[in-house]
Amino acid sequence: MSEILEESCSICGKSQSEANSMIHGVNGNICDECVEFCHDMVHDKPTVGDETNEFVLPTPLELKQYLDQYVIDQDKAKRVISVAVYNHYKRIFKQGKTKTDIDIEKSNILMLGPTGSGKTLIAQTLAKFLKVPFAIADATTLTEAGYVGDDVENILTRLLQSADFDVEKAQRGIIYIDELDKIARKSETTSITRDVSGEGVQQALLKILEGSIVNVPPKGGRKHPYQDFIHLDTKDILFVCGGAFFGLEKLIKGRLHKKTIGFDSDMKHFEEDRDLLSKVGYEDMLKFGIIPELIGRLPVVTALQELTEEALVKILTEPKNSIVKQYAKLFEYDGVDLKFEKKALKAIAEMATKQKTGARSLRSIMENTMLEIMFDIPDMDDVVECIITEDVVRNGAVPKYKRKKL
Ligand code: ADP
Repeated sequence: MSEILEESCSICGKSQSEANSMIHGVNGNICDECVEFCHDMVHDKPTVGDETNEFVLPTPLELKQYLDQYVIDQDKAKRVISVAVYNHYKRIFKQGKTKTDIDIEKSNILMLGPTGSGKTLIAQTLAKFLKVPFAIADATTLTEAGYVGDDVENILTRLLQSADFDVEKAQRGIIYIDELDKIARKSETTSITRDVSGEGVQQALLKILEGSIVNVPPKGGRKHPYQDFIHLDTKDILFVCGGAFFGLEKLIKGRLHKKTIGFDSDMKHFEEDRDLLSKVGYEDMLKFGIIPELIGRLPVVTALQELTEEALVKILTEPKNSIVKQYAKLFEYDGVDLKFEKKALKAIAEMATKQKTGARSLRSIMENTMLEIMFDIPDMDDVVECIITEDVVRNGAVPKYKRKKL
């Protein structure tokens, strides 16, 4: 009995039929997946989080270019943050190696901007690029030590977990603290009664933002006296804080208006200014209810803008792992070419804009649109192309199908 031997990848052993494609060499073969893997290996420069002393710190331009692949628009914020992140890691690595009497202070970052505009995504994408541990915390769940809720130290537990309990690594990580605006103190004057959710939490956060050695409970949860702690130095951890800071624009507008009182045209100019948040000053933050010490610890401030409908369409299609690309991949596994008409994408963006949660609602709108289609497709053997029209998005109509010619 003769057996036809399939050619296989000389690196991973995958057979010709298992691989999407195979390149045949003189003495061996390589499959598409191994080509991609080798490409990444050759082109990925070792970076901050790599276990090597030979790492190359990406320049602000390289950081920004990487962000551009995942984050749409928000150009100014991407630039500001790329510089801040570059300076942060330069400070850690260069200052550690050379003797200098100039002590460069840490530059934690504050991002102001509406919900779903890309604040978390920026911080997360940078951490991924730099291969440093990353943790997200929600400021609203935090309380001062001793109150019911999350202790501030638990944020550090999460970072340690993300670093697989490698203390050195965690100490170079990035922490994103969301909803900072929600812990603003309620009135400008400090009250005699303790403000559990506001100023007290800001004070507790200040301690870790400033840089200090903190006793971190390795399993998280509440501290208790018999627990073993891990000592974590927070001086080189980069803190990125974010929040919508609803109401801050009004304070900025008021301050700017005071300066130009009597000039109606200027006031109109402020009314239309989409970039008002970027004009934030120290006194606006103070009025908003952030304590002066915390403002001082967040020296890099940048504003993100509300995403336009055009930006939402781009988010659907352009990022490296965009939602449309992900669905297209899923359909490809069923041998179907998935396409979206321009008007369909616009309709999704328009519906998302109405929900006022920025790009956040894109996925659920898409999920709703695609559910029935994804239910049917695997049983429709003759379908080779599926086109999503505006009518599918708005009214749940049946998509246009192209079928195999028999
Ligand atoms: P927030 O500003 O509230 O932190 P996120 O960064 O968490 O918003 O965004 C929520 C989701 O919306 C992200 O996971 C991402 O898929 C998408 N998104 C938001 N803004 C952008 C953007 N500017 N470019 C690409 N995707 C975005």
